[in-house]
Amino acid sequence: MVSSVLVILLFLVYTTNCYVKQVYKVGGLFNDENQVQAFTTAIDIMNKKYELSQMQLVPVPTIIPTHKVLLSYNKACKLLSQGIIGLFGPSSTHSSSYIQSLCDLKEIPHIETHRDLNLERDNTLVNVHPHPSILSRVVFDLIEEFDWKSMIILYDTDENLLSVSTILEFNSLGRTVVLRQLEVGNTNEVDGYRTMLTKVKLTKETKFVIVCSTDILETVLKQMQEVGMMTDIYSYIIADLDMQTIELQPFQYAGTNITGIRMIDPERKEVIATAGEIRKRRNVSDPLEDLAVIAAWKLKLESALIVDAVKLFYETIHSLTADDKMFINATPIYCKSNDNWAEGYTIINLMKMMSVEGLTGTVKFDFEGFRNNFIVDILELAPAGLLRVGGWNSSSRSFKFERPYKAPLSDDKQSSLFNRTFTVLITILPPYAMLTETATQLVGNERYEGYCVDLIDSLSKLLGFNYTFIVQEDKNNGNLNKTNNKWNGMIGEVIEGRADLAITDLTITSEREGDVDFTMPFMNLGISILYRKPEPVPESLFMFARPFSLSVWIMLGVSYFLVSLAFFIMGRLSPTEWQNPYPCVEEPEHLVNQFSIRNSLWFTIGALMQQGTELAPIAISTRTLSGVWWFFVLIMVSSYTANLAAFLTVETLVTPFKNINELAAQKEIKYGAKVNGSTANYFRDANLSSYNEIWKYMVRHPENMMSDNDDAVRKVESENYAFLMESTSIEYATERHCTLAQVGGLLDDKGYGIAMAKDSPYRNELSRAVLKLQETGVLTSLKIKWWKEKRGGGKCSRKSEGGAATPLDLQNVGGVFLVLFVGSVLAFIGSFVELAVRVYRISKGKKLPFKVALKRELKFFVQFKENVKDVPDSNTEDANDNNLIDKTEIEY
Ligand code: GLU
Repeated sequence: MVSSVLVILLFLVYTTNCYVKQVYKVGGLFNDENQVQAFTTAIDIMNKKYELSQMQLVPVPTIIPTHKVLLSYNKACKLLSQGIIGLFGPSSTHSSSYIQSLCDLKEIPHIETHRDLNLERDNTLVNVHPHPSILSRVVFDLIEEFDWKSMIILYDTDENLLSVSTILEFNSLGRTVVLRQLEVGNTNEVDGYRTMLTKVKLTKETKFVIVCSTDILETVLKQMQEVGMMTDIYSYIIADLDMQTIELQPFQYAGTNITGIRMIDPERKEVIATAGEIRKRRNVSDPLEDLAVIAAWKLKLESALIVDAVKLFYETIHSLTADDKMFINATPIYCKSNDNWAEGYTIINLMKMMSVEGLTGTVKFDFEGFRNNFIVDILELAPAGLLRVGGWNSSSRSFKFERPYKAPLSDDKQSSLFNRTFTVLITILPPYAMLTETATQLVGNERYEGYCVDLIDSLSKLLGFNYTFIVQEDKNNGNLNKTNNKWNGMIGEVIEGRADLAITDLTITSEREGDVDFTMPFMNLGISILYRKPEPVPESLFMFARPFSLSVWIMLGVSYFLVSLAFFIMGRLSPTEWQNPYPCVEEPEHLVNQFSIRNSLWFTIGALMQQGTELAPIAISTRTLSGVWWFFVLIMVSSYTANLAAFLTVETLVTPFKNINELAAQKEIKYGAKVNGSTANYFRDANLSSYNEIWKYMVRHPENMMSDNDDAVRKVESENYAFLMESTSIEYATERHCTLAQVGGLLDDKGYGIAMAKDSPYRNELSRAVLKLQETGVLTSLKIKWWKEKRGGGKCSRKSEGGAATPLDLQNVGGVFLVLFVGSVLAFIGSFVELAVRVYRISKGKKLPFKVALKRELKFFVQFKENVKDVPDSNTEDANDNNLIDKTEIEY
C-alpha cells in the first residue's frame, strides 16, 4: 500500500516537473514604444512557436530617453538584479557603449540592433545590424555601376556621413565628390532646407547621394521637389535602409531616377504577419490583412532587427536547454558587487555560431562578430511605385540586377515594353543558349546562358521588360508544311501564341517573314561548307615544275623558240653580223654569220640556263635582243628560284573540293544540312540547277540530314562527310574542333532575327534596341565572348593558315613577257634599219637603184641555206661590205 502511494507520488512529481516551464527573463532598454512592441511581440511569437518546450522567455522592457546615459546605466543595473539572461538595446550610441562595458564586466549577453560604427565587437556583444562600412559599399558599388563621374553627398549628421565614408574614395579615383550638409535656413523655420537646396541646384550637379535620418527624408525630398530638383534630369541614391517606409508617391511620376536600398522585403509573408502582430499591440483594433500589408511597408529596420535578434537569442537558448541538455541558472547580478554571470559566455558563443532566417534575411556572423551573408535589395522608384530591381550580396559583394536600372534607351520616352513580362523561346544550341555550368541547382532564367540569353538580357535592360525563358525541345527552328500550311518548330510556337519572342540561330527568310515578324538582324551570315581541314599535297618527283603554272611553262617554251628564231633572222638581216672568218686575210672570199639556227637556239638556251656560250652578238639589233632576253631570263629565273624555295618550305594543302559545285559533282563525300532548316530550304528553292541537284541528293539521303549541330560536327570529324552550315555556326565549330574548316565562300547573305507574332507592337522598339546594341558594340563583344572566349573558344591556332605557296601564273609574270615582246620588236626594227643603211650605201656605191640592191639582199636572205653571194667589185667598200663577197654561216 505504502509503496503504491510512493509510486503515485513519484509519478506526480515527475509529470508536474514535465509541465513546469523554465522561465527566463530577458531585459530590454529601448528608446521608444515601437521598439518595445517589436521586442515583446517577437518574444511572444517565439514562445508560441515553442509552446511545448520546457522553456519560456519573459520580456522585461524599459523605455529610456535617448541621451540619458546615467539613467540607462541604472536601469540596466536594475534589470541585471532581476536575474535576466540577456540584455537588448539600447539603440542610442551614447548609452550603448556604457551598457556594453557593463555587460562585458558582468558577462551578460548583450544584443544590439542599431548601427554601430565601431570596427570591433566586444566579447559579450552580438549586433544584428550590418556594419555601416558594408552598407556604404553597396552605395559605392551602385555609383560604380551607374558610372557617376561627379556627385554631391547631401547629409544631415556627421554620423550619417561617416556611415557612407567609402564614397569619398571616389575623389582619389579621379571623380568628384562634393559634401553638402542639409541645414535648415536660419531666417525662419518655415524656410526649411529650401535655401540650401536652391544653392545646391545652382551647382548644376544632377547626381546625388542622400544620407539622412528617415525622420527628415520625406521633408527633404518634398522641398527638393519644390525647388525644382525632382525632374527627370536628376538621379538620387538614397542611402537609408528605411526609405521604403516614407511616402514616395509624390515623386514617382516625374521621371526622377531615385534608387534606394532596403533589407526588409515587405511582401514576404513572415514580414506581413509579424508587422501585423506588432500593429495589433498598438491597440489598433482592426487587424485586417491589408492593414498588416501596410504595416509591413511601415516596418522600420530597427524593429525588424529586434525581432530577428530575439529569434536568434531564443533559438540559442532553446537549443541549449532542449532535451535537458543544460540548465541555465539565471542569477541576479548586482552592479555594485564583483560577481559576474558564469553562463553568459556559453550563450554568447553559441549565438555567434547560430544562423536563423529572419525578417532581414539570414542572420549569421563572421568570425569577427559582424553580420554577413545577407542581401540588400536595390529599389527603383517607377511610376508603378517602389520596385525591387536587384540585390546586392554581402558575401560576393556583387549585384544581380533583375530589372533595368537605367532609363530605357536612355531617352526621355518610356518604352511600351516597360514592365511587361515576355515568354522567350530558346533552343539549347551552343553558343546561342546552353545550360549554365554550375555545381549548384539553379532555377528560372539562371539555368541558361549563351549569346541569345545575354542579348535578351541586354534588351530587357534597355527596354525595361521582364522575361521568362522556355525551351524548344526538338530544336526545330520552324518549317512550313505546304500541304496544311502549318508551321512547326519555334515559328509554330510563336504563331500559336505559346511564346512571345523566339530567339536562336533563327534565320530571317521571306517565307517566315510572311507569318511572323522579325527584328532587325542581330547577326549576319551565309551558307558555307564545314569539312575536314585541307590535307598536305603529296610529295612528287616533279616538285621542281610547281613554281610556274602550266601556262607560264608553255609561254616560256614559246618565247625561247621565238627569240631563237629572232636571233637567226636578225643575224642574217644585220650586215654587221657578217664577219670575215680570217681577219688576217684582208680581202676574204666570203663572210661568215654566227647566228645559224643551231647557234641561235644554243645562244638562247645558254642565257636561259645562266651559262655562257662563245657567241657574242655584234650588231646593235642582236645586242638589243640579247639584252632584253637576258633581262627576261633574270626575272624569270629569280621568280622561279624564290617560288621554288617557298614550295620546298611551306606545306601546301588541298581539299578534295573547293566549292559547292565541286562537292555536288563528286560521289565519294557524303553531305547534308540541318533537317527543316533554312539551309536545306535554300537548296530546295534555289533557281540554280546545280543547287536543285543538291536538294535532290538531300531528299535521297535523309540519313545525312542532321537535327543537331553537335551531331553534325561529330559526323564531319569521324566520317567522310561535309555539312552545309551557316557561317556563324561553322566559325563556332572551327574555333573548337581544330581538324575542321570552312571550305569555300558564302553562298548567300542573310541574318538572324528575333521572331514575334505578326504585327507585333513591340517590333520597332525591339529592332531599335537591337540596332542600339549593335552601334554600342555590345553585340560584337557578346560575339567575342561566346565564340572565342567561353566554353573552349580560341583552342585552334591559325598560324599555318594563309601561308600556302602557289604556282606563279601569267598574271604574276605577264609583265616580263611583255617587256620581252616589246624589246624583240624594237630589235627587229633596229636590224631593218641597219639593213636599209647598208643597202643604201651599196646602191650609191654601185650606182644601183635602192630597190634593186634591196631585192638582191633580200633574195639572199630568204635562201636560208645559201651562204655565198656574188662577189662584188672591189674598192667600193671596205672588206666588211658584205654584199660584194661570199657570205657563209659559221657553226660552233
Ligand atoms: N538557321 C537555320 C534556321 O533558322 C537553321 C540552321 C541551318 O539550317 O543551317 O532554320
